[in-house]
Parts: sequence; structure tokens; C-alpha cells
Amino acid sequence: MGLTTQDPPRRRTIATGPSLPVADDAVFRLSDVIRVYREADVETIALRGVDLTVERGELVAIMGRSGSGKSTLLNLLAGSDRPTAGRVLFLGRDLATMDDAARAAVRGREIGIVYQSQNLAPMLSLLENVRLAAWLAGRPIDGAAARSALERVGLGHRAGHRPAQLSGGEQQRAALTCVLAGRPTVLLADEITGELDSESAGVVLQILQDVHAAEGTTIVLVTHDDAVAGRADRIVELRDGRIVADGSTN
Ligand code: ADP
Ligand code: MG
Repeated sequence: MGLTTQDPPRRRTIATGPSLPVADDAVFRLSDVIRVYREADVETIALRGVDLTVERGELVAIMGRSGSGKSTLLNLLAGSDRPTAGRVLFLGRDLATMDDAARAAVRGREIGIVYQSQNLAPMLSLLENVRLAAWLAGRPIDGAAARSALERVGLGHRAGHRPAQLSGGEQQRAALTCVLAGRPTVLLADEITGELDSESAGVVLQILQDVHAAEGTTIVLVTHDDAVAGRADRIVELRDGRIVADGSTN
């Protein structure tokens, strides 16, 4: 893994705890994370003290009913939100305390996110979308590499098409190809198979499993589908903002 933007900061010495000279090797380390949404006079406690460590190379499924805090947790992992209390460390670094430019650099280069609704540029072809995504992640690729990335997910014949010309399943595969083209250290996916038929969902999951096996990409996948979660190494279950189960699937 190449972190070229900056060296990880040294661990701060905390008055109450030991000072550890080694950089944290876990991809994510969350301690007592609380997230409260406040809107007017309504307060929603979405996460109520979450401790979670994700090691390098894991494929973790986050499960739980609607409203249990899955997306909130994923947004904190992505560094697109900050905890109300507690800490979220990414490779030993607290994204919430970084300045905007440093955080954007780390997020853009190391963290890939795929949502249910895809973030493809509508005016660009798939090939151009893939190249743009790789370029934005600081790892530009040429047209031939972008084409072969699309071929690997069965979209080679669609390289010249715009997103709107594709089916939902194809768009989801294209969005995933774009994110993977940036070769992120960690891939976060929020219910990306939720709107797909089972065949398309199977193809998308296979892509995730392939990249996980081939590149050791750390993957955190939010789903409420048992069949999807069964493909993960580990299932973390949330209920009412708390982790109620966390275990290996084999
Ligand atoms: P999940 O992804 O598991 O369905 P979420 O993390 O989206 O759950 O939501 C957890 C709780 O936080 C829910 O009660 C939800 O209504 C609330 N919530 C989520 N996002 C916001 C927000 N931006 N403002 C206020 N409440 C929110
Ligand atoms: Mg959600």
C-alpha cells in the first residue's frame, strides 16, 4: 500500500494511556463512537457507543434493520461525517482532526465508496468515467487499461455508452469499476445490491470477491440481505445503534 501524500502522524501521547511508537496497522479502529443527529428540537441517536476494528484485507458485512445505523457508520468510516463523541481512526489517523485538504487527499486516494445510486458522470462514456475516476484517485490509467477493467466486469461492449443507456445492474457494475479503477485501500459499499435482481447482484458480489482475493482490498459492505452477507468473512450486526453481534462466517 503506498501512502505517498504524507507519512502517518506519530501516535499522540495520551496522559492517561501508554504511548505506542508504532503506527496502527488496522484499517479502521473505532472506539466508543457516538453519533447524534440534531434537527431543530429533535435528537436522534444513530450510534450509541460503537467499538469496531477492521483489519487489513477483511471483507466485512454490516447488517441490521433499516434505521439501525448502518449508513451512519459507513459515512463515519468514509470520513464524510464526524462522530459526536468517540474516535474513528483510519490507518491510525483521525480524519476528523485533519484539515480539509489533508482529509480530502486521504479520502480520494485511499477510500472508495459505492452507493446504491451511482455516481457516474452522465455526459461521459463508461470508458471516460473509468479514466476520470482513476485520475481523481491520483492513479491515472490509459484507455486500454480502462477498457480491460470494463471487460473484466462484462461491460467491454458498453465502453462507449453513456450511463443512461445502461440497465441498473450495468450501471452498478460500471460504478464499481470506476471506484476500483482508483485502486483504493478500502472499499465501502452501502446496499449496492439492494435494487438489483439476484443475477445482477451475484455479478456485483463476484466482482467484490474477486478484487478482495486478487488485491487484498479491505471491503466493508452494508447490506440487509443474508445471501450477500454470507459472502463476507465476518458479519457485524447493528441494532439501535449498537453492535449486537460480530463474528466470522466460517
Ligand atoms: P440504516 O442505514 O441502518 O438504515 P441510518 O444510519 O441511515 O440507518 O440511520 C440511523 C438513524 O439515524 C435513523 O433513525 C435515521 O432516521 C437517523 N438519521 C440518519 N441520517 C440522519 C440525518 N441526516 N438527520 C437526522 N437523522 C438521521
Ligand atoms: Mg442505510
